[in-house]
Amino acid sequence: MPPEKPHWADLYREVVTSGLCTGCSACVVACPYDVLGYDDGDGRYKPFHVEENGGVDDCTHGEKGCTLCTRACPRFRSWETEIDNYLFRRERAPEEVAGISEEIVLTRSTDRELATAGQDGGFVSALLVWALEHDVIDAALVSTLEGDGSSWKAVPMVARNREDVLSSAGSRYTYCANPMAYKDAIDGGAERIALVGMGCQASAPAIMSARKAGKIARRISLSVGLLCSKTFDDAIFDRLFDDKYSLRREEISKMNIKGVFQVWTNDGEYHEIPLKEAREYTRSGCNACPDFAAEHADISAGGIGALNDWTVTIVRTQRGRDVFDSMVTAGAIETRPIEDDPGVIPLLNKLSRVSRKRWPSTEFASPGTMPVASPSASR
Ligand SMILES: Cc1cc2nc3c(=O)[nH]c(=O)nc-3n(C[C@H](O)[C@H](O)[C@H](O)COP(=O)(O)OP(=O)(O)OC[C@H]3O[C@@H](n4cnc5c(N)ncnc54)[C@H](O)[C@@H]3O)c2cc1C
Ligand code: SF4
Ligand code: SF4
Repeated sequence: MPPEKPHWADLYREVVTSGLCTGCSACVVACPYDVLGYDDGDGRYKPFHVEENGGVDDCTHGEKGCTLCTRACPRFRSWETEIDNYLFRRERAPEEVAGISEEIVLTRSTDRELATAGQDGGFVSALLVWALEHDVIDAALVSTLEGDGSSWKAVPMVARNREDVLSSAGSRYTYCANPMAYKDAIDGGAERIALVGMGCQASAPAIMSARKAGKIARRISLSVGLLCSKTFDDAIFDRLFDDKYSLRREEISKMNIKGVFQVWTNDGEYHEIPLKEAREYTRSGCNACPDFAAEHADISAGGIGALNDWTVTIVRTQRGRDVFDSMVTAGAIETRPIEDDPGVIPLLNKLSRVSRKRWPSTEFASPGTMPVASPSASR
């Protein structure tokens, strides 16, 4: 039998329309023929195929042997095992529920401007500025707010310098497909690119490398993951924040989630909204997501700590280790042992366990058929 060459028709059936698709957009940016589009209207956040070329559920390039969309998809078939084996040369132990890691530590940017702009300790922003200014990356794919920010519509952007990083710091809790900024980064001449994103996006660079997905796999050379249990539909602004709590989106200055939805407004007031009220606005692409801890990033970052203004930082790969150690040596970040905040590890494991239960067991059990690159080196 000739080797299977899974392509868009398989991706469409097994991931896009099965409920597994997170809307990460990796397939869209990996397609060399530009026959995939991305629909982020009305909470859809899904890839689609341009109809002239094989119809919505097929692709003539795929029929001729192009497999790049399935090679780029971090939810296609045995993605989790393939990436674990590729990145770490082994499968995770059952107790490694938050993924395989080298070190978990608290960090904070020593640059006060970055620490203040950041959602927690400003670690992610400090990393990006450090990597941009020390010839590690040429650009980073991040998220910002559209226009003057008053709509709270999160949109992908390319950060090329400190000012860009500062303007994109902080967290938005609606979805933003940061890989969609890839083309802009390439058009601007970038060859070494960092991707910042929640776990659904942070697994993309590793699966692209494991499945040899061409130039894009080489170019996205650093994956910075954000811990995440869900994102929300844009409707949450009007139907919950505004209708129930009279918090108009243009009056909101900052949001965070720490057991409750925390909302700060431009008049300096602080508001709390119970998370259970937000549940009905969960984005559908998150419903089957098993990855809380951004398990395949080079470095993952989160805000589950009780110590505000510190980022919980998980160093996972050799590439992550190299960047992290260089930042410590250069004094770009300060660190504290994770034991200073004893609630972090139990909560990390608990939230990871909750997310893992979402993955449909039938799909999880399905054997992978993709050719996996030999795990010759850790990233
Ligand atoms: C949607 C979402 C859900 C999250 N859920 C949790 C959670 O449940 N538990 C937890 O511990 N941590 C969660 N985090 C992570 C947390 O909010 C911080 O991003 C993390 O602690 C890093 O803080 P920092 O100060 O180091 O980052 P910063 O220096 O503020 O950098 C944050 C980076 O995230 C990017 N970003 C912001 N919003 C988005 C978005 N919507 N999509 C893609 N990229 C974005 C920014 O562009 C920036 O590069 C979530 C983050 C996001 C974006
Ligand atoms: S999970 Fe991502 S790569 Fe896979 S089909 Fe959905 S958008 Fe494409
Ligand atoms: S829960 Fe977070 S990581 Fe998972 S699909 Fe939703 S946004 Fe992505």
